[in-house]
This record gives sequence, C-alpha cells and structure tokens, in this order.
Amino acid sequence: MKPAPFEYHAPASVDEALALLTRYGGDAKLLAGGQSLVPLLNFRLARPAALVDLNRIPALAGIREVNGHVAFGAMTRQRTIEFSPVVARRLPLLTEATRWVGHLPIRSRGTIGGSLAHADPSAEYPTVLTALDGEVSVRGPRGERVVRAGALFETYLTTTLAPDEILVEVRLPAMPEGAAYAFEEFSRRHGDFAIVGVAAMVVGRGERCTAARLATAGTGPVPVRLRAAEEILERDGLGEAAIAAAARRAAEIVQPDSDIHASADYRRNLTRVLTERALKRALARAGAR
Ligand SMILES: Cc1cc2nc3c(=O)[nH]c(=O)nc-3n(C[C@H](O)[C@H](O)[C@H](O)COP(=O)(O)OP(=O)(O)OC[C@H]3O[C@@H](n4cnc5c(N)ncnc54)[C@H](O)[C@@H]3O)c2cc1C
Repeated sequence: MKPAPFEYHAPASVDEALALLTRYGGDAKLLAGGQSLVPLLNFRLARPAALVDLNRIPALAGIREVNGHVAFGAMTRQRTIEFSPVVARRLPLLTEATRWVGHLPIRSRGTIGGSLAHADPSAEYPTVLTALDGEVSVRGPRGERVVRAGALFETYLTTTLAPDEILVEVRLPAMPEGAAYAFEEFSRRHGDFAIVGVAAMVVGRGERCTAARLATAGTGPVPVRLRAAEEILERDGLGEAAIAAAARRAAEIVQPDSDIHASADYRRNLTRVLTERALKRALARAGAR
C-alpha cells in the first residue's frame, strides 16, 4: 500500500521546522528515521498533510559528555549509539539495549529521538531512559522545556509532547564506575519487539547495594520503573534471597495487558524471570572484571 498524498519539507534548522509545525497546526508529522512512521503512512494509519523531515538539520545529531551526563542529539542513529566508545564507557547498559533494537538496517536509520517520541512501551530506549531517570529537551513555539523520563510517556504510542514541539536532545546520567548492568529481553524472533524486557543496573560493594535501577518494557502502556523492587535490593543487598524477593516484587508491581502476543499472566511471570536473570547476569559479569 502507498501513503496518502502529503507535502514534504526539509528544513535546515530547528526554528524552520518549528515554524512549519505551527503553519500546519497539528496536521504535520516530523520524519526522523522513518522506521515507525513510514509503515504507519503506508498502512494509512497516519495521514498527515505534511512531513517535516529532520534529516537535514546537522545540529540535531551527535553524542557529547556534559557534567556527568551523556547528551544525544535527537537525530543520533541507533547504530551510532551501538558503536560509540563514549556510550560503551559511560552508558554500557544503553549499548547492550541497542543490540536488541530491531535489525541492523533499522538501527542504521532509526534515531534515539524517534524511538522516544514514538513511545512504544515494548521498545528498549524508553525503558533505559526510565531505568536511569534520564530527561529530554523539547523545543516548541513557547521556548524550550525539560521533561524527565517519568513525565514523558503518557500511554501506548503517546508522549506528553504537543504536536508543535520537537524533541531536540536526550540526556542520560553516566553510570557510576563499576556499576553492574544487564538488559534482558524475551521476544519470539530475533529483532522483534520485546514481549517483556528488563533493564537493570546495580551499584554495590560485595553483597551491599548502594543504588539499584530497574525498569520494564512490554508490561503496560508505558515503561515501568520498579522502585519497590529496587528498594528491596538497597535494603537487603545483592544475595540470592534478596534478588529472588526483588524479582517477585517486580512481578507484583507491573500491570500488563493481554494481547495476541502473550497473556498478562505470562508477561507477569516473564517479568520475574527476566528481572532475576538480569540481576544475576549483571553481577556475574561485574564479578568477572
Ligand atoms: C521490523 C521492525 C522492527 C523493529 N524492532 C524494534 C525493536 O525491537 N525495538 C525498538 O525499540 N524499535 C524497533 N523498531 C522501531 C525502530 O526502532 C524505530 O527506529 C523507532 O521506533 C522510531 O525511530 P525513527 O527515528 O525511525 O522515527 P520515525 O519513524 O521517523 O518517527 C516515529 C514517530 O516519532 C515522531 N518523531 C520522530 N522524531 C521526533 C522528534 N525529534 N521530536 C518529536 N517527534 C518525533 C514522528 O513524527 C513519528 O510520529 C522496529 C522497526 C521495524 C520496522
């Protein structure tokens, strides 16, 4: 199927792109990597009057370290992130999560900003943003604002961004030196969206845990931060019993829906299994260093 007709614009700056969004009054769509938008256009599930292509705005791409954070221009490709030495050093959880995103050709076009703005609750980047409590900068006609991970995702495929706003930058706090981490996921075929995914990071000394970060993909309309499970690890440490208790708590926190891919019960059980697996793998790898 082919998309319905649309006007095409390729602005050279964010200001120009914002003016175009205002001109179309909510009837234009931003085009980033096109890996989610183009299928929606082809199936005519989206029929915007215009596409505003962000690919000719060089200022929107790139990775830099700033004040203990790693900042990504919204148009930074997933493939660039996968092979970035800065990301491998400062955010290895993101490097690992990126390998779960679709296939190589998808990662070569898909962008971090597009993935977050698309807000698929089974996607890896929203889950990592939630686990690490990152934030995004958003520009609109009323200026720039910062949105924390917990306030970005509203429901399935919906963020709190207005139609005339552009996500311009993503910031994640650099992981503490020596943090243990793992991204675990279950999907039926390699490259499919997760049925459930779990992002885990723990900072500890021996069996003591000074900070834990856990979040899930595929367990409801938005990614879920598993704060009550994190608290078990921070209180009781990183031994077998505490990990098993945290994983059980994780399964109680999530409220997944049933769909054609899996029942809610199956997803809840996967949450427990993958949380335990992620924590154990993270610690085993950290111990091996
Ligand atoms: C076969 C297949 C398998 C896939 N598997 C996975 C997977 O396992 N995990 C996963 O996470 N993703 C997966 N994807 C999706 C892929 O990661 C996309 O790259 C991503 O979801 C969207 O990024 P994009 O840059 O392509 O955005 P686009 O498709 O260009 O845009 C997506 C949406 O975000 C909006 N948007 C884009 N950029 C901005 C911005 N800067 N500000 C505001 N709004 C913006 C667009 O208007 C559109 O509504 C898969 C895609 C395919 C085709």
